Amino acid sequence: KKKINDGLEKTRTGFFAGIVNTLTNSQIDDDLYNDLEEQLILADVGPDCAIRLVDELRDKVREEHLKTGEQALKALRELIRLEMSPTDDLDLSGKPAVILVIGVNGVGKTTTIAKLAYLYKDLGKKVMLAAGDTFRAAASEQLELWAERAEVPLVKAGEGADPAAVIFDAVKSAAAKGYDMVIADTAGRLHNKKGLMDELSKITRSVKKASPEASLEVLLVLDAITGQNAISQAQEFCRAAGATGVVLTKLDGTPKGGCVIGVRQKLGLPIRFVGVGEKIDDLLFFSATDFSEALLP
Ligand code: GDP
Repeated sequence: KKKINDGLEKTRTGFFAGIVNTLTNSQIDDDLYNDLEEQLILADVGPDCAIRLVDELRDKVREEHLKTGEQALKALRELIRLEMSPTDDLDLSGKPAVILVIGVNGVGKTTTIAKLAYLYKDLGKKVMLAAGDTFRAAASEQLELWAERAEVPLVKAGEGADPAAVIFDAVKSAAAKGYDMVIADTAGRLHNKKGLMDELSKITRSVKKASPEASLEVLLVLDAITGQNAISQAQEFCRAAGATGVVLTKLDGTPKGGCVIGVRQKLGLPIRFVGVGEKIDDLLFFSATDFSEALLP
C-alpha cells in the first residue's frame, strides 16, 4: 500500500529538494529568505502563504536563536505542520454518516468516491454509495463499476432523476438496514452558483428528512495538478456548497505538491484525504505530521 512519501515523490525530489538544498547549504540571511520565498511560490504554495511562512520562519529563527540551516529546516517543517493541522475530526457520528462529494468533471470525483468506500469498508464500516450525479449517465455507470470493485451496494436512478431523491432513497435505505455510511456523488456544477446552492440545500434537507440522525460532511475534490489555478474557482464553489473539507487528488502526478498548503490556507478548510494513484487503495487519510515530514525529510 502506498504512503504519503510515494505520493509526494515528484514534489520531494523536485521543488522541495531545492528548498532543502537551499536551507542546508546557505547562511541564514536575507538572500536565503528571498530564495526560499521564490521556491515556495514555484512549488505552488501560493504567494500569500509563501510570504507568511517565510516571515514566520524569520521570526522563529530570531526568537529561538537558530544558527544552522538544519535548524531552520526543522523550524520550517514545524511551521508547515502547524499550517496544515486540522482543528477537528471528520464528523462520522450520524446514523448513517453521510458524505457528499462535490467537484468539477475530471478532477477524480468518481474514483475518490470508490476509494472512500473501499477505505471505510476496510475499516469495518458498512458503506453504501449513492449515484447523485444524475446529470451525466456515464457518471452512474462509472460509479456502478467501481461499486462492484469495492463490493459495496449502490443506489441509483435513471439519467435526469432528481439527485436529492436518489440520495434520500440511499439514506433511508442505509438507516433501515443499519449501514454506517452513505457516500454520495453529486452533480455540483461550477458555472451556476445559485443552482448549486439550491441543489445542495435541497440535498441536505432530504438527508435530514430521510434520517434525522444523519451527520453530514461535504467534501470538495480538487486536482493537485491544476493546483493554484483551481483555487480561485474553488473558493466560490466551496462557499456556495458549504464544503467542510477537501480531497486533493493526483498528488502523485505533480511536482507542485505545495498546492496542498495553498489550498488549506486559501479555502480555510481542512485537507481530509489525498489521492496518490489510480488504484482503489490509493487514497490516504491526510496527516499534517506525515505530510510535513515527507515534504521536508
Ligand atoms: P471525475 O470526472 O471527476 O469523476 O474523474 P474520474 O474519477 O473519472 O477520474 C479522472 C481521471 O483521473 C481517471 O483517469 C483517474 O484514474 C484519474 N485519477 C483520479 N484520482 C487520481 C490520483 O489520485 N492519482 C492519479 N495519478 N490519477 C487519478
